[in-house]
Amino acid sequence: MNNEQAGLYFHIPFCKSKCPYCDFYSVRYDEALAEQYVQQICNTMKQYQGSFDTVYFGGGTPSILEPALIGRILSCAKEQFDIDDRSEITIECNPSKDLSEDFKRYASYGINRISLGMQSAVDKERFALGRSAGRAEVERAIVCAKKAGIENISLDLMLGTPKQTVESLDCSIDFIKNTGVKHVSAYMLKLEQGTKFYEMRNRLELPDDDTVSEMYLKTVSALDASGFKQYEISNFSVPGFESRHNTKYWTLVEYLGIGKSAHSLWNGRRFYYDSEWNKIDDGKGGAQTERIMLGLRLNKGVEKSLISADYSKLVGMGYIEEKGDRIALTPKGMLVSNTIINMLI
Ligand code: SF4
Repeated sequence: MNNEQAGLYFHIPFCKSKCPYCDFYSVRYDEALAEQYVQQICNTMKQYQGSFDTVYFGGGTPSILEPALIGRILSCAKEQFDIDDRSEITIECNPSKDLSEDFKRYASYGINRISLGMQSAVDKERFALGRSAGRAEVERAIVCAKKAGIENISLDLMLGTPKQTVESLDCSIDFIKNTGVKHVSAYMLKLEQGTKFYEMRNRLELPDDDTVSEMYLKTVSALDASGFKQYEISNFSVPGFESRHNTKYWTLVEYLGIGKSAHSLWNGRRFYYDSEWNKIDDGKGGAQTERIMLGLRLNKGVEKSLISADYSKLVGMGYIEEKGDRIALTPKGMLVSNTIINMLI
């Protein structure tokens, strides 16, 4: 296990409505329910002790909560744990509501990083994903976050979505470039069972696999040309603005997840809370196979000494590259990462 300071995660499972592609655990927002939930988070924290240098509010839609509730969770965390003064503290936000006051309150609580669900800067693509707000609202949120003094902003970008084309991707990439954000998470749409898109899969018009691959490779090169270095399969940043919290997941640094469906790697064990707050043990964490599987997601890859399989053919085929005493997936290898990683463990 990596001995760096741990990360603290809070899952806020409330949303205004369910997006047709989403399989995350979430329920419809209700003010009273949200109050109770926050109380439960504070009660649960009392079962643990620890020292953290990143805090992450994920969801669901954390920004749907009254900012005071986010403040309460952070106060409880500071009472219970040792939270480093230089912590990266992130909150995921949905730009559909005017967040200008929320951002000021977040900044006053010490939140210094915002992750915005953009998905696309093309309105018809956003609306096809069930999002109510358009590009203008995303832009407004970026301006307001900066006005509140929060410059470390990440945007989510989705690839392979309805109505998206290789050409229209330029609009989203230009938007990213021009708004001066520091980080991008680019995910390919997956049709997950249980979602509305999965039910509609036979009549949903989606770009084919080759087009989605082209979109991914274009994203990698266009973001690189705009100063965003890829550091993980789906993540890109201006140098120095990599997500410190998420990097802990890929480098086997411990993290404690509090909330329904929040996962942990804590004291060498993996566990999670289910939708009834039952704590479910998920076995021992930090095995060599995990180190390889997670490490190969990163551009810096893993030490060659961890790999016993013969990877020379994969190097020849352009899926893997050697970087000194390490090996890493190339962008082409990242497109088929699961297959390549399975061949190496
Ligand atoms: S994508 Fe985000 S906002 Fe939409 S339902 Fe899922 S968690 Fe909620």
